[in-house]
Amino acid sequence: MTDCIFCKIIAGTIPTTSVYRTEQVTAIRDLNPQAPTHILLLPNKHLASVAEAQPEDEALLGALFLAAKRVAEQENVGSYRLVVNTGAQAGQSVFHLHVHLLGGRAMSWPPG
Ligand code: 5GP
Ligand code: ZN
Repeated sequence: MTDCIFCKIIAGTIPTTSVYRTEQVTAIRDLNPQAPTHILLLPNKHLASVAEAQPEDEALLGALFLAAKRVAEQENVGSYRLVVNTGAQAGQSVFHLHVHLLGGRAMSWPPG
């Protein structure tokens, strides 16, 4: 996707330091962090959101959560929140599926 900011980051067109990278997943620090640790886990393959995922994406979706666990360990956050905003009303602003990993502070529930 040539007009997708996260595809450009994954491809290296927009230089960004990744904190974790595998064949399937890239993790980067959020530009506008909402917690002391705020990392985005991106599938290297463009998928607009969870709503567009297909049965063949099952392993990729699992890889994202396992990557989140590994990055949390790497960042030494023992308690954290994983968020996947899906659709504009839920707060999704970048339409390349991503998991937010937020940690390093106390959090309340319900989310806003
Ligand atoms: P969403 O609102 O779609 O769930 O989350 C998108 C996230 O991407 C936001 O937290 C925003 O700060 C982050 N973001 C948007 N553009 C960039 C960028 O160019 N680089 C990085 N590292 N994060 C970005
Ligand atoms: Zn993309």
